[in-house]
Amino acid sequence: MKLTRLVTDILGVSSLAILTAIIAAMSRVRSGDRLRGLVDARASVWGMAVAAVSRDRMRGAFGTTFLLAVLAAGCAQVAGSGAQPADAREAATAAYFDSIRDEPAMLAAFLERMPVGGDIHHHLGGGVRTPELIRMAMDDRLCLPRDHAAQWVLQSPPCGEDERPIAEALEDIAFRREIERRWSMLDYLGDSTSMDRIAASEHFFASFGKLALVQRDISRLLAAARTLAAGSGVIYLETATSHTPDPEARDALAGSVGWNDDLAALRRTVLADPRFAALRDATIESLAQGLEASDRLLGCNTGVPDPGCGVFVRFQHLTVRTFEPVVVFVNLLLAYEIAAASPLVVGINLAAAETHPVALRDYDLHMRMLGELAAYYPAVRRSLHAGEMLDAQAAALGAERHIRLAVAPAEAGGAAAHRLGHAVALKADPQPDALLVQMRRRGVAIEISPESNRQLLGVDPVNHPLVDYLTAGVPVVLATDDPGLMLSDLRRQFALAARNVAVSYPTLKALATNSIAYSFLPQVDRQRLLRRLEGDFAVFEATRWETPHGGGAR
Ligand SMILES: [Zn+2]
Repeated sequence: MKLTRLVTDILGVSSLAILTAIIAAMSRVRSGDRLRGLVDARASVWGMAVAAVSRDRMRGAFGTTFLLAVLAAGCAQVAGSGAQPADAREAATAAYFDSIRDEPAMLAAFLERMPVGGDIHHHLGGGVRTPELIRMAMDDRLCLPRDHAAQWVLQSPPCGEDERPIAEALEDIAFRREIERRWSMLDYLGDSTSMDRIAASEHFFASFGKLALVQRDISRLLAAARTLAAGSGVIYLETATSHTPDPEARDALAGSVGWNDDLAALRRTVLADPRFAALRDATIESLAQGLEASDRLLGCNTGVPDPGCGVFVRFQHLTVRTFEPVVVFVNLLLAYEIAAASPLVVGINLAAAETHPVALRDYDLHMRMLGELAAYYPAVRRSLHAGEMLDAQAAALGAERHIRLAVAPAEAGGAAAHRLGHAVALKADPQPDALLVQMRRRGVAIEISPESNRQLLGVDPVNHPLVDYLTAGVPVVLATDDPGLMLSDLRRQFALAARNVAVSYPTLKALATNSIAYSFLPQVDRQRLLRRLEGDFAVFEATRWETPHGGGAR
């Protein structure tokens, strides 16, 4: 058909595959589920388009916009064609999924086996469960203050009179349980509407300060995070960390630089300080050593490798947004320099509580820093936490334009981000529809963590703006954020989406594919992992499922 050939010519997507997606989606539109049909048509064609687009590194901007225009016209043409889907196994899997989506046990069994792709919004510091953290703290003989007003912050050995060795948690179950409550979101897993969300959020962000001592050795964190990720089917971890082997040296450097609103001049000053290059090189070396050491800890070169060995890992260097401007600037510059120089660091990130008074005060300045510095490092990709709050919060705090500024070009004072983390407060923006169009045109992917948004913001997954992004054709990926501290994993995000939003199998598959296609990996790695994921889906779609009412699905 002429229409699909036109799309194929531009994007290199099989016309048959496009036709399949459109027909599958339109059959749902005809059956009355208009939203689901539309979402699926866009999402499934999207997934294929993304794979094709990533082949030539043209990130979606023209292709996807055109594709959607063609799709809108094309749906009417193919709706009555009655053609058979080309990929019968995918179609059968989709049909089976539709038949069991309201059967909780069968849906869970389906999602338990479905490939989920990569986790590309993941914090290394929040990627390890508390029992592992306690074990690491025991190995280091760390201590906890007896005075609980001291907030359960780990202390160096030897333990003083007013401190308890954490090793006592081995025998004292109540002590261990209390540590787990204080260090993780254990108390905040229940009903998201009835809890004090400000307390939940403060409790969460305070965890990182409590754990700082045990998190200096990233090899252990990486090993534990990889094992956890492998357990939920993750094949790629793009983990964000602000790790440096000498944080005191970094803080001393940042503290000794005077602020200068001329950011180009400030950059020259910082780069001219010999301590900066030493810090950059030591950080690059430490990240490489940490990753290598995690391979050893997991036994990756032995006959009995841990499943975590199968998780490919790359870093984003992360800057914390709640410090004074000069400190944030030095850290951002360090991140850009590290990402430009190290093949292991594929991007940069800006994170921490966006509602913090300093983060709110300096938000526009941070976007200007990111945008202006990007000119010196055109190859460095950036993902920013933006709009991680409720619409009403954004309106009350004057943060309505956070998402808009994060994606705006540098000439407009923006950070020109390639991806956004969360972006929950979409509708607080003065023109959300125009913003969605802008994100779709630029191929800005949104990293959505339904479980994180539920725990920290109280967002009911049913009302999550995930559906707004999907219907607008903005690329979406599902990610964990902090699976260790939130007692969550990547599969949980897919389950929340499948149960609460009217997504179907092709949409779930597109979400998984996007997690690799929109990763910051270089093309060769991205293609390799896309092929691996494609193979995983082929195996999955060959499953013989039992239908809800007995008998084989096919
Ligand atoms: Zn995050």
